Amino acid sequence: MSLLTVNECGLYCKQGDFYIDPWKPVKTALITHGHSDHMRWGMAHYVCHHHTVPLLHLRLGADNSVQGVAYEEVMEFKGVKVSFHPAGHIIGSAQIRMEYQGEVWLFTGDYKLEADGVSQPYSLVKCDHFITESTFGLPIYNFPSHSSVYGDINSWWKANREGGLNTVLLGYALGKAQNILAHADVNLGPVFLHGAVDNVNKALEEVGYRFVGTRITADIKRDAIRGALVVAPPSAMDTPWLRSLHPYRIAMCSGWMQLRGARRRKGVDRGFVLSDHCDWRQLNQAVVQTGAREVYVTHGYEHNFSKWVREKYNIGASIFKTLYNDAEEEIV
Ligand SMILES: [Zn+2]
Ligand SMILES: [Zn+2]
Repeated sequence: MSLLTVNECGLYCKQGDFYIDPWKPVKTALITHGHSDHMRWGMAHYVCHHHTVPLLHLRLGADNSVQGVAYEEVMEFKGVKVSFHPAGHIIGSAQIRMEYQGEVWLFTGDYKLEADGVSQPYSLVKCDHFITESTFGLPIYNFPSHSSVYGDINSWWKANREGGLNTVLLGYALGKAQNILAHADVNLGPVFLHGAVDNVNKALEEVGYRFVGTRITADIKRDAIRGALVVAPPSAMDTPWLRSLHPYRIAMCSGWMQLRGARRRKGVDRGFVLSDHCDWRQLNQAVVQTGAREVYVTHGYEHNFSKWVREKYNIGASIFKTLYNDAEEEIV
């Protein structure tokens, strides 16, 4: 008897009568994290981690019915025990654990095993049935450690500054941007923000986070920005806002930057391989460590990864077809 199935509205738990990250309006929606493909408009009631609440208000409006929960806090939905556990993806991100009649199911949402220094690190949750994303579920995705990438980013900023150039880093406004800000070497120079990044930072201040950086407004003199680090979302490409930052060098921060030709196709000077998802090695590690006897693979390379799990580990693996896409990171 399945505790979680996919229907036209999303991942549904019939026994507990709730959905997880639904894509159509439903009564009760448990939300893994604040990215737009997982947290959608129109639910009668939302349940998410405390730190996701201000993000929900920012994105979907303050008039929604939202219940904030802590990690490890156990709730009951018609006899189904439900709890949220750190997914290490972005601030507030959660894996959702469900227990019913002795069986444990776990939905990862988006996750990564490497700690990013900003979000609560991933915690291993043992389960019988494991539903995992597969955004980077191919062996070619083998990410360098974050600390080495931030070292490269700061060196590049320093070189650009010495050449009289601004440094623009493109990364998703929720997640990537905060990680970049937390690791920027502020001794090198000033840090400035695109409005979309500043809006997310302001929302996160409500739950106690603080990030460096000044929003670029019309009254900021361009001379004050010279040699600065500027953090902006990918959507800032080819906008008058970006052109006003000349002269600059620009880089994209994304797991997709590991693909040959990705930097050139995106039209940026540099690509930094920086992801908030598991790479191939981490996906395999998670599958093994959860001890699951049945695996269900969602968004990404679900065909490839489910086949791999079946053949490599000799456990059941199938596909959950969902509408999550992580398009915010996708550049290919
Ligand atoms: Zn996400
Ligand atoms: Zn996702």
